[in-house]
Amino acid sequence: MPKKVLLVIDMLKDFIDPDGALTCGEAARQIVPYVGEKVKEFSAANLPIVFIMDAHDPEDLEFKRFPKHCVFGTPGAELIDELRVLVEEYPFVIKVPKTRYSGFFRTNLSNILSDLEPEEVHVVGVCTNICVLYTVEELANRDYRVIVHQKGVASFDQEAHRWALSQMQSVLGAEVL
Ligand SMILES: [Zn+2]
Repeated sequence: MPKKVLLVIDMLKDFIDPDGALTCGEAARQIVPYVGEKVKEFSAANLPIVFIMDAHDPEDLEFKRFPKHCVFGTPGAELIDELRVLVEEYPFVIKVPKTRYSGFFRTNLSNILSDLEPEEVHVVGVCTNICVLYTVEELANRDYRVIVHQKGVASFDQEAHRWALSQMQSVLGAEVL
């Protein structure tokens, strides 16, 4: 079996819960069972699961562009309960806090992936056209084989969601499953 990593992007209360500060809405709720299945599949196979987690300072300048969300240390910045319970006992979990769209910007994700040497990087999470897209772009820069799970990504904007999937496939060379 190829060495695989699961990247779970921003499946956090402020983005996914219906009353979250920056909820992505019903589309994001609908991917939760699929993302849960992937988490179960990877943990059952003892494969690494990397949670990329928005974690802002209360005064972060990103809040000029978006309403305040995922402030570090607040409940909104936590993994949604549906996923948290699945990995409570699982040791091969790596949490990567980030402050911008890309999971690589000012994080140690590059080193983490260099150490894991995955042959396939599987991507799920939100939003397809923002943090998923800009993280996949940087995976492509590093020549990883990327698999984006169509049923496991979502956005508040359906048109942008579809555009981003096509962009990741046609321009960034990701496999959209
Ligand atoms: Zn943010």
